[in-house]
Amino acid sequence: MSVKATEPYDEGNIFARILRGEVPCRKVHETAHALAFHDINPQAPVHVLVIPKGPYVSMADFTANAPAELVAGFFRAVGETARVLGLEETGYRILANAGPHSHQEVPHLHVHIFGGAPLGPMLARRAGSRETGA
Ligand code: 5GP
Repeated sequence: MSVKATEPYDEGNIFARILRGEVPCRKVHETAHALAFHDINPQAPVHVLVIPKGPYVSMADFTANAPAELVAGFFRAVGETARVLGLEETGYRILANAGPHSHQEVPHLHVHIFGGAPLGPMLARRAGSRETGA
């Protein structure tokens, strides 16, 4: 089920459990502000998730309510994780789903890092999609 924009933080969500060490993960990188680990169901040759160490449902919640040090530390950790993965030269894509239209499933903010091969167009094309021409 998709995450709603306004829902309260659920301490039982799977990423909260990973942060507490209750559920294992394949760790890539860890800082005081963030944890990066391989996605359990990879959508690219490299597919890693980076999560902040704090109870934030979404990007909206995080950017409105997290302390500046955590916001900065989290985004720094995303860049560091791409470096640790050796993706800087070949390139990579980052993505964060937020709310129902995006199909966000886990209600703890996470940034996906995809890489390891050419990734194709940014979004799947579909009939009837709006072209802005911008
Ligand atoms: P979302 O759709 O919320 O942006 O992405 C959630 C991601 O979390 C999915 O890519 C899914 O495969 C991943 N995921 C869900 N449960 C687990 C888990 O227990 N461990 C790991 N490593 N990834 C998970």
